[in-house]
Amino acid sequence: MNWHLLSINEISNFLKTSPQGLNDNEASKIAKVVGENKIVDTQKKSTLSMFFSQFTDFMVLVLIVAAIISGFIGDIVDTIVIIAIVFINSIIGFIQEFRAEKTMEALKLMAASNARIVRNGRVVDVEATVIVPGDVVMLEAGNIIPADVRFFEAHQVKVDESALTGESINVEKSIDELPNGDYVIGDRINMGYKGTFLTNGRALAYVVATGMETELGRIAKMIQTQESVTPLQKRLAVFGKKLSIVILVICTVVFLLGLWRGEGGLEMLLTSISLAVAAIPEALPALITIVLAIGAKKLVSNNALVRKLPAVETLGSVTYICSDKTGTLTLNQMTVQELVPIFSGDETGYLGTQDNLLVAIALNNDVVRDEKGMFLGDSTEIALAHYALSYKMDRLELENKYPRIVEIPFDSNRKCMTTIHQTEFGTIAITKGAVDVLLNLLLENEHENIPKYEKLLQEMGSKGYRTLGYAIKLIPSNINSFTHENIEKDLQLIGLVGLIDPARKEAKQAVFECKQANIVPVMITGDHQLTATAIAKELGILNADDDLILSGNELSAMSDSDFNKIVERVKVYARVNPEQKLKIVKTLQSRNQIVAMTGDGVNDAPALKNADIGIAMGKNGTEVAKEAAHMILMDDNFATIVVAVKHGRKVFDNILKFVKYIMTGNTGEILVILLAPLFGLPIPLLAIHILWINLVTDGLPGLALAFEPPEANIMKRLPRKVNASIFSGGIAIHILWVGLLTGLVTLGAQAWAIHNNNPNWQTMAFSVLCFSQLGHVMAIRSDFNSVFKIGLFSNKPMLLAVTIMVILQFAIIYIPFFNQIFKTKPLSFEELLTTFVFSTIVFIAVELEKYLKFKVRQ
Ligand code: ATP
Repeated sequence: MNWHLLSINEISNFLKTSPQGLNDNEASKIAKVVGENKIVDTQKKSTLSMFFSQFTDFMVLVLIVAAIISGFIGDIVDTIVIIAIVFINSIIGFIQEFRAEKTMEALKLMAASNARIVRNGRVVDVEATVIVPGDVVMLEAGNIIPADVRFFEAHQVKVDESALTGESINVEKSIDELPNGDYVIGDRINMGYKGTFLTNGRALAYVVATGMETELGRIAKMIQTQESVTPLQKRLAVFGKKLSIVILVICTVVFLLGLWRGEGGLEMLLTSISLAVAAIPEALPALITIVLAIGAKKLVSNNALVRKLPAVETLGSVTYICSDKTGTLTLNQMTVQELVPIFSGDETGYLGTQDNLLVAIALNNDVVRDEKGMFLGDSTEIALAHYALSYKMDRLELENKYPRIVEIPFDSNRKCMTTIHQTEFGTIAITKGAVDVLLNLLLENEHENIPKYEKLLQEMGSKGYRTLGYAIKLIPSNINSFTHENIEKDLQLIGLVGLIDPARKEAKQAVFECKQANIVPVMITGDHQLTATAIAKELGILNADDDLILSGNELSAMSDSDFNKIVERVKVYARVNPEQKLKIVKTLQSRNQIVAMTGDGVNDAPALKNADIGIAMGKNGTEVAKEAAHMILMDDNFATIVVAVKHGRKVFDNILKFVKYIMTGNTGEILVILLAPLFGLPIPLLAIHILWINLVTDGLPGLALAFEPPEANIMKRLPRKVNASIFSGGIAIHILWVGLLTGLVTLGAQAWAIHNNNPNWQTMAFSVLCFSQLGHVMAIRSDFNSVFKIGLFSNKPMLLAVTIMVILQFAIIYIPFFNQIFKTKPLSFEELLTTFVFSTIVFIAVELEKYLKFKVRQ
């Protein structure tokens, strides 16, 4: 349908709607026919394909083929068991991946966008999916247009349609009818399309198409959120490839050595392939996704919604947190504290009343009321509307007398907004905005008063007040284009208003924690320098002598190299434009800082995208900011960022522990098989033993490391360097020495048993290896403290996993059925005790290592 060629009336008649919107009844009827307003994701991996992808690993296939061949020639039980173990492993993998996927889907759903519509004649906020054709949507700068719409009221509306057209220039929209003709999407200036967003202005529009019927749906150019791979995963994948080659070489050597020693060829082949399957860490990147998803889930319960998984990882490395003031460091609960009317001109004022300032406050305001009569809108504006109302100045009533003709909406670059009204004196503009901005827009004959106004501003600012000015002007009749360039000049100041927005109590503690954790908290605000400084001091952001405060003007006057020199010392940026946030991010990054940056407006999007962690406000943020961000703060609270950083650090720690555990175990197994012949011992492990330990015994306890609580010193350490190798910080050495020790302990148990002519040496060696791994995983739960200090019960999933594994191992040793399958024999009490004694060596050694390291550090 060519909606853009129809008149507004034709559209409302066709859709049976009006500016009062549909009622719920009508809307639900339409919804039944057209369905939900969403783009269907056709590329999603189905559950079945997710299941089968678990088996497509090349090495696993090789193993299965080898097992089948050996089964035909030799022992069919072996074949079945191997296939069963691989199957169990795949099921565990599938369940984990499935759950991770579901978690991410749930997170995405929580980040789903909302829209403000008119239903039953009232303004309501709804999820964008429930919108139907005929609904009336209210749009303002920063809103993503939730469906295809036709504007019927538009104030200075500009739309970024690049998502749809690729055109980066913002398109100005109007409500005009278009003459007949062919129009490409970019030329349909009375239409707004799903997925594009308002960069400027305010509008009301009829929804004409939803879901797959929209242009976006039709061209099926989906806003596919590409699941990005995290830096750690990338590095691990590269490392894994190299490691695989090394392991394949080792396995070939193992195979040849075995043949040379006269072991059965087929058996050796199976052993070496099993070793390769077990030791190649191909599942590591996928497992990390799972650990990150578990982390993301935990974060959400702490009010931080992760949109992009790598954010969980990066959070742990953050060195600077640049935060907005309003709403994040403060409560965003403004109240008017002080009113200073200024009667510089005609005392009766253009508005014809003594209370001209109050009238201006009521009229120059954009809040709307929701169904319960509560004000919706910007908190500054809500405070002002409340204040005016307490003096019985109601905008809607006043507008009967002074109808609003046009408005020039607020934007944070201009830092002011104007409404234009018809009055008995003529057309009048009321401008409200930052006082220092207004002072530059005053009438010539007002200039002499500026020092007086500045003094007033100083006084109010140093009390921590956000100070707004109100100014008016009579618009000359020859002006009929109401742009801000035309209107916002030659103004007359009529008063100042001081509002207070108290600091959040918990922010002070969070700032303190940041500093302890070697993270620098920085305040960035559009507010006045004095207001910003007062709050920054109260919160402890500003407390050192060499801390700097920089204003937006100073920043733009400064050369890049000068800014580069001081950027790390600036703790407060005042009166900055959102565009300057990008410069701050980039400069800090050029000094190798990892920057978390908050933002709420449409102009914040570039800074959010470019920051290492872009954080959007969940409550007061625009859709565009949320889209651009890596993480959404559901409570808009600075303290939540610090909690998220703590979680990020913990998740990273746990991933490293996981890598350490898996790699050490693998090294141990390889060494057992590689060294046995060199020590003149038979290879103690059969293929099924290797697979069992690696794919089953190691799996659950490894994953349980993801539930490890944070280390006690987690917020007292330096942030982790992002480009530091995974194996730095002694991890590589740990893997090697503990791996070697595990190998030697296993072979030692084997040698001891053989020496004593004990026929159960194989069962003992297999069990020692298994129990040693379990001891190891317990010991590495903390990098600093003994497991007894952190408490055996502080990670219950781990305790459960280890207990299950011990029980399973006992089953393998003592149940005849498993004896047959695993070729094990029941151990006597004495043998079992010996096995335990050998198995504790790794645990004791790793605990001792921590103890010694800790002692040295003290
Ligand atoms: P922060 O950056 O700390 O979150 P902010 O987002 O409130 O602060 P802006 O919204 O960019 O900062 O506002 C900048 C300045 O614009 C304010 O200090 C105030 O003087 C002025 N201002 C804010 N809201 C309005 C409004 N609704 N109408 C007119 N002027 C406003």
